[in-house]
Amino acid sequence: MNRDTSLGGGEPLKKILGRVAGKLDSKFGLKTTIDLLYFFPRRYHQLGELTPFAQLTIGEEQSVIAQIVDSSRRRTHGGKWMLSLKLSDGNNRMDAVFWAKNQYLINWMSAQMQVGQTKLFSGRPSLYRGRLQLSHPSYQEVDDENLDVGNNQQVQAQAMRPEPIYPAKVGLPTWTTQKAIAVLLDELKTIPLPDPLPEDIREERGLLEINEAFEKIHRPQSRKDFAQAQARFRYEEAFILQVALAQRRAELSEDAPCLKKIPGGFSDRVASSLPFTLTAFQSEVLDDISQRLSSPRPMNLLLQGDVGSGKTVVSLLAMLRALDCGRQAIFMAPTEVLVHQHFSTLCALLGELAQPGGFNLRGGEGVPIYRLSSSLPSGEKQRTLAALNQGQAGIFVGTHSLLSNQVAPSCPGIVVIDEQHKFGVKQRDRLRQNETGTAHLLVMTATPIPRSVAMTSFGDLDLLTLKGLPPGRAKVESYRVNSANQSWTQRTWQRAKEEIMAGHRVFVVCPAINPGTEETENGSDNEDERGNVTCLKGARTAGSGQNWGESRVQNENRKIANVSETAAQLKNLPALAGVRIGVLHGQMSAEEKDRAMADFISGTTPLLVATTVIEVGVDVPEATMMVILDADRFGIAQLHQLRGRIGRGKHGGVCLVWSGVEAQSPAGRRLEAFVNTTDGFELAAIDLRLRESGNILGQNQSGRSSSLKILDLLADEKVISQAQKDAKSLIAGDSQLRKHPYLQAAISRRISEEEQEYLERG
Ligand code: ADP
Ligand code: MG
Repeated sequence: MNRDTSLGGGEPLKKILGRVAGKLDSKFGLKTTIDLLYFFPRRYHQLGELTPFAQLTIGEEQSVIAQIVDSSRRRTHGGKWMLSLKLSDGNNRMDAVFWAKNQYLINWMSAQMQVGQTKLFSGRPSLYRGRLQLSHPSYQEVDDENLDVGNNQQVQAQAMRPEPIYPAKVGLPTWTTQKAIAVLLDELKTIPLPDPLPEDIREERGLLEINEAFEKIHRPQSRKDFAQAQARFRYEEAFILQVALAQRRAELSEDAPCLKKIPGGFSDRVASSLPFTLTAFQSEVLDDISQRLSSPRPMNLLLQGDVGSGKTVVSLLAMLRALDCGRQAIFMAPTEVLVHQHFSTLCALLGELAQPGGFNLRGGEGVPIYRLSSSLPSGEKQRTLAALNQGQAGIFVGTHSLLSNQVAPSCPGIVVIDEQHKFGVKQRDRLRQNETGTAHLLVMTATPIPRSVAMTSFGDLDLLTLKGLPPGRAKVESYRVNSANQSWTQRTWQRAKEEIMAGHRVFVVCPAINPGTEETENGSDNEDERGNVTCLKGARTAGSGQNWGESRVQNENRKIANVSETAAQLKNLPALAGVRIGVLHGQMSAEEKDRAMADFISGTTPLLVATTVIEVGVDVPEATMMVILDADRFGIAQLHQLRGRIGRGKHGGVCLVWSGVEAQSPAGRRLEAFVNTTDGFELAAIDLRLRESGNILGQNQSGRSSSLKILDLLADEKVISQAQKDAKSLIAGDSQLRKHPYLQAAISRRISEEEQEYLERG
């Protein structure tokens, strides 16, 4: 490793490590020395510690430190030999089994793994006849095992040394990774890496120098070592992000259209003709937005407000300010269902002024409003595109289609992005920027975002909160239903019938579309152009990232509730006789989806069996009941979004969450928390507490897919704000980072990684 290659991202591992380099690449995407040095231990094992089995995930390669408490050998029916060990973590048991044709091999293994010993096993836990099992794990001595502790100082020191445990994959146990890293650490001793953190900042914050930090995070002699090293890398991670964001801010030019308030303009007229009075909170937020819009500094605003808090009308009044100044307003929604819904909601709010499709049927002044989504008839699409690209002042509501190459708004005044927190900044900019300047940006979300998260993931956005809910909302009651309890499940469908008889609508939500497939709306791209939404809805993945002991165990015997079978079953249910049932999911065409929604709204099919396509934004005031099947498959944020679909009118509602999980399991506690409050902010806090923070960005922690490597958004808020402060003052003096080439290199590396991930997602 030399200085120049470290600027570029380090040397290829292939050149240094030989065969294992290929594995590190294929299993974890680690290509360079820098990649590997930043591949930190997942945890540290201390002498005498065992891995709690309850933390293991079924089917995923993991390292386990366990004690052997029983061992037996026997011949199988097939004539092979089998060694069967019972492992203990102090509380629970797990089997480890090995087979061989050769009896001697089994005898040899048995001698290697004797009762009473503690070993490090690496394997993929499975459930066999309801018991946790490792089949043919690889195994290793725990370093400290055969030490005669107390004999001399050196041995004692060794025994106290924390053992780093790296994420493992088949064929790549933690100790292999550890050895590979040791090679690099030895090299650092002669050819140290330059530090991306400026020395003065390091000193002021009391942080380790980079080479020492690598040594201490990978080869700690004590807990203090790795704790110090982690502190340094946490800060580094926060700092690099904050410098990048500060740079971005510094680059922003003041070239936004000043959307001055025009008295008697559309914005004023619509505001005064709304079917309701704006709440004080809505007015407050609008005043704030209004000021930002009149400035040449482009607005970069993230508006958070709980489900149903009334963000749409706020965005409409903001958009009309653009029209009042002869500019375009672009409104992007996450799904086709929502584009169509928003289009009609906006038309309704505009009332007389609405000119859908640009047609002016009433004559006189009006607000042209267009839609764009991939499945619309090509005539309508062409009309929308022409209006957009030719500079027609109007409102343009669309899906990701708005980001296609064909779209080049000629005079954008404001871009509104609904319910999608994370867009590629570049894509956003393409829509916002042209020779006429930079349009204002309003991002809206119902997912409450903690300050620390806002400072990192959305650091280029200012945060504004729309509090409260419009008046007159009746309550939504929530209950957990044990899906094994027949009287409850029967009562559910009677209640559904009663609601329908009273003229209301009922949603039944399933995690999957079809039987047998784990394929859900969550995993696949099938829902419209929704592919590249990473959101705070880490819930999307959190829902299925369960530990053994909960629903995965059941799922071995039982299918996940799915739309097609559920709809068929409900149709045959005597309790629902005479009720027409509709279905809605992401594999339907846009037309089918539209029809399904329309039939539900009109009451033709008052019961709708759907997937999470209805999760965001769907607004049907008559919907009063929701039954969420296998609710443990969903995360809190997602459940909250789903529940937000009911009780939107004056009738209130009831939300029943069906699940078979244990109350004490993590999923059980999630559901318990969920039924106990409807406050989105409270739920978000609980969610963060219950969830591993690495999941906040919707990515799991295994391997490198998590964009935050070591920073903990909950715990590290202070580090993040320190880093933000340091970054701002650094950039104020040297926005190009001319004096800090290694920092600039670290940023470029980091950004290009993120872009890479982004591309892979899209
Ligand atoms: P969200 O913030 O979740 O997007 P919406 O904008 O869809 O919420 O608003 C939810 C419902 O509340 C809509 O039916 C909307 O018409 C209604 N609403 C919005 N503001 C008010 C208000 N000030 N008074 C009464 N109802 C309102
Ligand atoms: Mg909304």
